[in-house]
Amino acid sequence: MTEKHSWLQQLSPEELAEWQRCLAEANRNNVFCHCRQCNEEWVASGKEACHHCGSLNVESIACWQFPDG
Ligand SMILES: [Zn+2]
Repeated sequence: MTEKHSWLQQLSPEELAEWQRCLAEANRNNVFCHCRQCNEEWVASGKEACHHCGSLNVESIACWQFPDG
């Protein structure tokens, strides 16, 4: 358990389950974006223009499409 995640240990099982539901919901809605122009990477609610260089040449991948592990 890393220090980064230690706060999770302080949650009750009910709170942890709720947090995991929220996380799953966020994963369904969030889209990972990658700019082919400048290689900027960010997460948004949908495909959008690169906010680093303004390019529309953006690759978008829904987070839930990432395989586990
Ligand atoms: Zn860019």
